[in-house]
Amino acid sequence: MVQPYRHEPLTDFTVEANREAFLAALKKVESELGRDYPLVIGGERVMTEDKITSINPANKAEVIGRVAKATKELAERAMKTADEAFRTWSRTSPEARADILFRAAAIVRRRKHEFSAWLVKEAGKPWREADADTAEAIDFMEYYGRQMLKLKDGIPVESRPGETNRFFYIPLGVGVVISPWNFPFAIMAGTTVASLVTGNTVLLKPASATPVVAYKFVEVLEEAGLPAGVLNYIPGSGAEVGDYLVDHPRTRFISFTGSRDVGIRIYERAAKVHPGQIWLKRVIAEMGGKDGIIVDKEADLELAAQSIVASAFGYSGQKCSACSRAIIVEDVYDQVLNRVVELTKQLNVGDPAEQATFMGPVIDQGAYNKIMEYIEIGKQEGRLMTGGEGDDSKGFFIQPTVFADVDPNARIMQEEIFGPVVAFAKARDFDHALEIANNTEYGLTGAVISRNRANLEKARHEFHVGNLYFNRGCTGAIVGYHPFGGFNMSGTDSKAGGPDYLILHMQAKTVSEMF
Ligand code: GLU
Repeated sequence: MVQPYRHEPLTDFTVEANREAFLAALKKVESELGRDYPLVIGGERVMTEDKITSINPANKAEVIGRVAKATKELAERAMKTADEAFRTWSRTSPEARADILFRAAAIVRRRKHEFSAWLVKEAGKPWREADADTAEAIDFMEYYGRQMLKLKDGIPVESRPGETNRFFYIPLGVGVVISPWNFPFAIMAGTTVASLVTGNTVLLKPASATPVVAYKFVEVLEEAGLPAGVLNYIPGSGAEVGDYLVDHPRTRFISFTGSRDVGIRIYERAAKVHPGQIWLKRVIAEMGGKDGIIVDKEADLELAAQSIVASAFGYSGQKCSACSRAIIVEDVYDQVLNRVVELTKQLNVGDPAEQATFMGPVIDQGAYNKIMEYIEIGKQEGRLMTGGEGDDSKGFFIQPTVFADVDPNARIMQEEIFGPVVAFAKARDFDHALEIANNTEYGLTGAVISRNRANLEKARHEFHVGNLYFNRGCTGAIVGYHPFGGFNMSGTDSKAGGPDYLILHMQAKTVSEMF
């Protein structure tokens, strides 16, 4: 009997033993930096001449690993392998598939800090954020394993006398999983195992900034008993391998997490039916956000300021759920703004490997340049209250930045920056605040800090976001508790970690028999 699902607790680093264990994990990972990693196709290790170099964003000189880079030919080989493996994997029992997830979760739990240490080094995550990423990866395995057990016999439908009707789900085929660098373990693992546990085979193309942690996870799944060819690891360039596989007539579905622009590109390309293709591809997409926190005049203002700071600057604002817009009712505007500025100035920015660091670097030079450009735009569009500076001499560091008095239609209020920048806008009243909050093409997360019940109820229905939070920040959705995904340009509202997520990876079949 499988135990009921409960989310993996976060590590308490004030406990000395935990702190020491984490430091030891960092040491272990440091001793393993700079290695070469192959592709995995049909269980076979394939090295390529050309490599992706993964570096530490806090220290550009430190190479995390060099990872083989797939070409079109190798992607084709992986596709053939996955297509072949689908025949047996799709007929493997759901219980056996779920057991692989449970075993993999147990393996990761035993090596939890080691995985988090890879995240510190490869993604620049401070301890807390790395620990949460690893915990979420475990949660996805535990949760989706159980969801598959619930769905395996289908859903009861009616039968008339002399007739027996059954309604159940079967797998789709080969899925292409294109995963992001900002949750390089959790989202990579979650999108991969959701595809696998439902009986599909997978071509995994992890983000080029964070391929090493993905390789480590492929090894875990092998150790947990996943047969060769069911999961193929093929890092490579989006323009070459990504497009090739999205266009491929044997691709049955694409599970993508990343930017709005790449998501649109994939959605458009996937819609085209290619010669030899006998289905319409499915796209599961989780894209950007321009998430706002509304602060009402009747509200716990300290909670409001803490929530804005944590949601805006956790992992340097590099979450699609991050708070990039603070929308404050005018009666309390100055108070909240001043407190946010005060708290922001106290944040510890530095090397994520240090326990005391609250905020590390941004992911790479491209991100650094883009965020610094937005900061320049912000200086024209608003009043710079704190931050605004960057230093990319050693790593990609940007100070947490607050802009005040920004027009709701300004670029920094409309465009996703994906960095540690939050813009403040003043609202006349609560209705105006809601209007500003909804004035975006995205619709991922949002929060309302208020003690006014009528206003909260109004927001429940009128704040148009996939994940709405009351009296807390707008990041940190927990698998199985806060199914995560957004409206409009935030994606297909596929709710990761939710009860209907696995169904997106399957198709329903009705069988009716007359007696
Ligand atoms: N699920 C994460 C959260 O709730 C965000 C995921 C993302 O940034 O893609 O904060």
